[in-house]
Amino acid sequence: MEQPDRSDGFLRVMRDGTIRMTNPVSGLGSWFIPARASRPITNAPGRPQQAVDRREVEMRCEFCEANNLRTPPEKERLVAAGDGFRLVEGVGAPALGESRAAFRRVANLFEVVPYDYWVANHGYRISERDGARMRAYLSDSAGKAHVDALLAAKLAREGRPEEDLARLPVEERALLTEGLFGGSHDLVITGRHFAEGSAAGAAPLGAGDLSQAEHAAYVGFAIRAIEDLHVQNPNVRYVMTFQNWLHAGGASFDHLHKQLVGFDGWGVILEREARLARSRPGIYNEAIIDQASGHGLVLAENDHAVLLVDIGHRHPTLGIYSRSATMRPWEQSEEEVRGMSDLIHAAHRARGSEVPSNEDWFYAPRDCDAPIPWRVLVRWRINNPSGFEGGTDLYIHPVSPFAMRDWVRDRLRRLAAGEGLRGFRLLEDGRCARSPLRAGQAS
Ligand SMILES: [Zn+2]
Repeated sequence: MEQPDRSDGFLRVMRDGTIRMTNPVSGLGSWFIPARASRPITNAPGRPQQAVDRREVEMRCEFCEANNLRTPPEKERLVAAGDGFRLVEGVGAPALGESRAAFRRVANLFEVVPYDYWVANHGYRISERDGARMRAYLSDSAGKAHVDALLAAKLAREGRPEEDLARLPVEERALLTEGLFGGSHDLVITGRHFAEGSAAGAAPLGAGDLSQAEHAAYVGFAIRAIEDLHVQNPNVRYVMTFQNWLHAGGASFDHLHKQLVGFDGWGVILEREARLARSRPGIYNEAIIDQASGHGLVLAENDHAVLLVDIGHRHPTLGIYSRSATMRPWEQSEEEVRGMSDLIHAAHRARGSEVPSNEDWFYAPRDCDAPIPWRVLVRWRINNPSGFEGGTDLYIHPVSPFAMRDWVRDRLRRLAAGEGLRGFRLLEDGRCARSPLRAGQAS
């Protein structure tokens, strides 16, 4: 294993090979202790693969096409068309099966921040556009039956009998219904549960199993949703965007999806970061990218993004940082978003879909002037934080950042050569040009 050529405040290799790391932005600590290293990195799943009947899984899965009516009314979908995708908005219940969605956007039936929170605390009410979509949907008997079934499911979750639906006060019913159309917590769901033609027992379709073009459409569709949530509900100040992959990664269903949760603040992490970034605008370049480059931990880059082993997280993490001068993803050009997408996709493809992961997005909130670049963290859920972590906020990793770098770089090299994966330059020496991000740089 290659040792770093220097120690800075953020990564220190001890005499016995223990590596102590601190995230320069969050201050969170992670350690790699050689004696506690687990087996070598592989793509083998944590549990034995069982042969599964794909059809049976798809019939049971709430996010599969067969169960389109178990998710709230669809806001919009992307349908494959020629070499690209076509956007279809506001599909009515009877028309759900008329086209095959490559990706769909629906409200989350059980929102983190519910619709009535916005109503009670902000005086918010469904936007004109979403209201019109709601009325059109309900004017159809299939649409109305769909909504009634969803309201019954919501009542059941609260332990209330289905008969309560008929007795619901008008206002309560209106709030619950409006939440299905005008809430601020959405899901972006892939159309397929499994890869086309995958064998019985195959893992479900992960983000890295999509083609690069499909992945770019998926990322672009999520960004469109973030922007739309801001537009529909002006009280939304930030849309937390994440993807939990597999049950062990915190997902309710092993069916690829992203969650977009609008809320009326920035969250503790970004509030702290905004203060830091304002006082030290160059921090992402200096303390993250240049520091990683100094340790040879940068894996790949393109004109719009950088992929590296990111230190100081709860789990071993790959970070993808946008090089754009624009801090909000929905204000970036298509090429800039594609550059990010290609490296996020490469990170997932390299890891393999058998392994649970979390993908978390961070960017400057719309009412924030701090130079916080759009970054995406892909955390490998291969360690389970326990008592030690809870008491110290130091996270023990089963793999060193250098072993992780070597493994991912080898995978990327093979993917580029064998599968023709494009859209990035592999950095064989782990170093990139100094301070490649435009965030915090005088323009
Ligand atoms: Zn499914």
